[in-house]
This record gives sequence, structure tokens and C-alpha cells, in this order.
Amino acid sequence: MLKVKSVHTYYGNIHALKGVSLHVKAGEMVALIGANGAGKSTLVNTICGLNRAQKGTIEFQGQAIEGLSPEDIVQRGVALVPEGRQIFSTLSVEANLEMGGFIHRRNSRQLRDDMARMLERFPILRERSTQLAGTLSGGEQQMLAISRALMSRPQLLVLDEPSMGLAPLVIKEIFKIIQELRKEGRTILLIEQNARAALQIADRGYVLETGKVVLQGEGAMLLEHREVQRAYFGKG
Ligand code: ATP
Repeated sequence: MLKVKSVHTYYGNIHALKGVSLHVKAGEMVALIGANGAGKSTLVNTICGLNRAQKGTIEFQGQAIEGLSPEDIVQRGVALVPEGRQIFSTLSVEANLEMGGFIHRRNSRQLRDDMARMLERFPILRERSTQLAGTLSGGEQQMLAISRALMSRPQLLVLDEPSMGLAPLVIKEIFKIIQELRKEGRTILLIEQNARAALQIADRGYVLETGKVVLQGEGAMLLEHREVQRAYFGKG
């Protein structure tokens, strides 16, 4: 579904991605892990059109998407749940969901149906539907960011560090939701610093280090891999 080939991205003179290749097949959950500054967000932003790849290709559903605008990429079926959630805190929960469904704005019935489904799916959001999004807890805001992305009816859901800044119990809840989405057959690219949690639920994973993929394989295999254990779990 998604094929990233030999992508290079720069910030001025800083060579942030040095020939990164990865792929995500339909129905798969793929984890991308790596330390601070490894280039995870740069890669996500390059896929979603927020950064430009200076070299390399990005294909989605068989078509080149590198160089397209972020809006065009959403329209093609890639939805991003950004790092830090970036909900519209001065708008209501409902208005946030509407923004996510802007692609379907032409058909307001479809938008209403999608919204109803989302509020049914996340009862806590229904309870708070008229509240300003900024008054939600961190976990609720993350749920809102995920449902806002789902409102665009994506083929591929890209989650950038969904556990960031959340308490351990809340992280568990968010990972449960991500796992449920996977079971429903959604295709997911999950970016995480929390390597263990991500690899435990992912089909496959990639380890990024200073702008390069240094390891890749099945989630369970990477969890047991010596290098991953040493670098991320302080073992060996
Ligand atoms: P984090 O977990 O901190 O978000 P990351 O793995 O997502 O880390 P990136 O944010 O993609 O890493 O950063 C990759 C490299 O690019 C780092 O060396 C970083 O300092 C640099 N970088 C990121 N954003 C910019 C920017 N806007 N301008 C200049 N350099 C940047």
C-alpha cells in the first residue's frame, strides 16, 4: 500500500533522512521506532507532504505521492495523527471531528453518519461532544486526534508518537484502541519511542538511527533482537 524508496530529506545542511526505504502492506501494522532525533517525525512528515523529499520516491496505492500537498495526500487516503495531537483546543469536540471530515463536507449526510459512528465508537467523546477540546484529558485528546483522522476515511492511518506525554495506564488504553483498529483490518504505521509497546502489537517493525534504517523484521523478532534489547531496554 505504501512504498518509501531511498528517501533523502534535508533541513538546510542537516541531512535528516539518508536513503530510507520501508513499506506497509494492506492490513498490516508496522512500527517505526528510534531514539530522539533519529528522524521518525521527519519521515512521517515527508510521507504526509509536510516535508519535501529531495531524493527518492514515495508510492501510495501504486501512485507517486512525493511532492503532493498535504491536502492531496489526505485525499488519496493517508491520515496523520500528529505528534502532540494538535487538536483545535478552542473548538468543541464535535467541531474537531468535523474538521477531520472536511473531505466529505460536500455531503453533509455522510459527515453526520461518520460523526455518529465515531461518537458511538468513543462514548467518552460523545459525553464531551459539546465541550471545548482543550478541556479534555491527555488520553481523551489522543482519542479525539485518532477519531478526527478516521473521519477522513483513510486507507492508511499514520500515528506519530501516540503515547507521548501520557500516563502509563492511559498509554495502555490508547494501545488497546490501536490494537482494535488493527483487528478491524485497518492499515497502520505507528511511530513510537516506546519501542516495547509498539513492537508488541506490530506485525513488523523498522528501527531508525540517525536517518537510516538499521534493523527491520517481524515485531516479535525485533523485540528479542540483541541490538534492540541493548539500545532500548538496557539489556546485555
Ligand atoms: P523526536 O522523537 O524527538 O521527534 P525524531 O526521531 O522524530 O525525534 P526528527 O524530529 O525527525 O527526529 O529529527 C531528525 C533530525 O533532524 C534531528 O537531527 C533534528 O535535530 C533535525 N531536525 C528536525 N526538525 C528540524 C528542523 N525543523 N530544522 C532543522 N533540523 C531539524
